[in-house]
Amino acid sequence: METILFLTHTEADGSLSKAARETLGAAIALQPALPGASLTVGLVSADDAQAAADSIAGSGATRFLAATGPDFASARYATDAAAAEALTQAAQATLVLAPATSRWARCMPGVAQRLHGRADTHVTAITVEDGAPAVTRWYYRQRIEGVSQRAQRPWFVLLEPGSGEPWQGAPAHAALEQAPIAIDNRLCRTVFCGWRAPRTDQQTIRPEADLLLVAGAGWTKKQADGQTHPADAERLILGFLHAAQASLGGSKSLVDLSGEGQAVLPFMTHLNQIGQTGSTPRHPKGLATCCHGEEPHVVGWRFINERRAINLDPNCGWARGKADVLYVADAFAVMEELNRILAGGRPA
Ligand SMILES: Cc1cc2nc3c(=O)[nH]c(=O)nc-3n(C[C@H](O)[C@H](O)[C@H](O)COP(=O)(O)OP(=O)(O)OC[C@H]3O[C@@H](n4cnc5c(N)ncnc54)[C@H](O)[C@@H]3O)c2cc1C
Repeated sequence: METILFLTHTEADGSLSKAARETLGAAIALQPALPGASLTVGLVSADDAQAAADSIAGSGATRFLAATGPDFASARYATDAAAAEALTQAAQATLVLAPATSRWARCMPGVAQRLHGRADTHVTAITVEDGAPAVTRWYYRQRIEGVSQRAQRPWFVLLEPGSGEPWQGAPAHAALEQAPIAIDNRLCRTVFCGWRAPRTDQQTIRPEADLLLVAGAGWTKKQADGQTHPADAERLILGFLHAAQASLGGSKSLVDLSGEGQAVLPFMTHLNQIGQTGSTPRHPKGLATCCHGEEPHVVGWRFINERRAINLDPNCGWARGKADVLYVADAFAVMEELNRILAGGRPA
C-alpha cells in the first residue's frame, strides 16, 4: 500500500505555484488508482503555511504536515533537504510527488540518497500499471518516451511543470501538523544575499506565455538588397514579443552569434536556445522565424502543440513535416504586418 506525499514549497507570498498545483492534481488522480493508498500534503514555508494548507484543504488529503520558519524563505540545499527528509519521514511516505522546481530539483536526489530511496527527475506523467505506479519521461533529448516502475521506496518523483492541469478547489480549514525538524547553524552556512535579474523590459523568457516566438540566424543574414538589417530585426522581434506577450526562443546559430559579441540581437542569450543542446519549453503554440528547422533544433519543440514557421526556403527542414504550417515568405515582411495588426491595424 502506497503512502503518497505531495511535497511542495510555498512561494514568497505564501501561496502555491501553478507547478505545485499541477503536481497536486497528479497526486489526487493517482491515489484512487492505487488500492489502499493515502494522500498526505507536506509544505515547506517561511510563514506558518496555514493559508497554503487551507487553499488545498479540499484535495482529499488525510494529513497536512509542514516544516516552517524563516530558514525556508529562500532556496538552500541544506535546509531544503532537511525539510524534505523530515516531511517524508513524518508522513512515512513511500511515494513522494514534488514539482520539478529548481529548488526541489537541486536537493531531491540527495534526499532520496539519505533515505535509501530512489529519485526520478523530468517526469511528465505518473500512471498505474499492473497495480503499481509507473512514471513517464523522455530520453535522448525528448526523442524517446519511456515508462518505468521501481520497487525501491521511498520513491521521489519530480514532475515537470506544464505536464498536467493545476488542481483547483474551494479553500477550507486544514488541520496542520508541524513536522519535527532541527535546523542548526551548520545547515545555514549558505546565505541568500539578493536577486540579480534582468531589467523587466528585457525579459524575453515567459514560461507561461501562450506563444513561443523562435528567431533563427536568418535574421542576421544578408537580405534581398544585399544588406543585413539587425536594427529592423530587433524592432520587429521585440515589438512582437511586447504586443503578443510571447516568449522568445532562439536557434543555436543565432544565440552563438550573440554570445560571440557580435552586435546582432543583444537581448538573445544562450538561455533562449531551443533544442538538443538547448531547452524544451512548453507552450500551446510556436512560431519559428528565419530558422531552418534542423533536427537538433526541432527536438526542442517536442512539447509545442501547434508549430508554424516562416522561411524563404520552401525546402527548409520545417517543410519536411516538422511544422503544421509553413509560410514560404519573407519573415521581415510578415512580422511587420503582424505587428501592424496587433497594434490595431486591419489586415492588408
Ligand atoms: C550535436 C548538435 C546539437 C545541436 N543543438 C542545437 C540546439 O539545441 N538548438 C539549435 O537551434 N540548433 C542546434 N544545433 C544546430 C542545428 O543543427 C542548426 O545548425 C541550427 O539550428 C541552424 O540554425 P538556424 O536555422 O537559425 O540557421 P541557418 O541554418 O543558417 O538557417 C537560417 C534560415 O533563415 C532563412 N531566412 C533567411 N532570411 C529569411 C527571411 N527574410 N525570411 C524568412 N527566412 C529567412 C533561411 O532560408 C534559412 O533557412 C545542433 C547541432 C549539433 C551538431
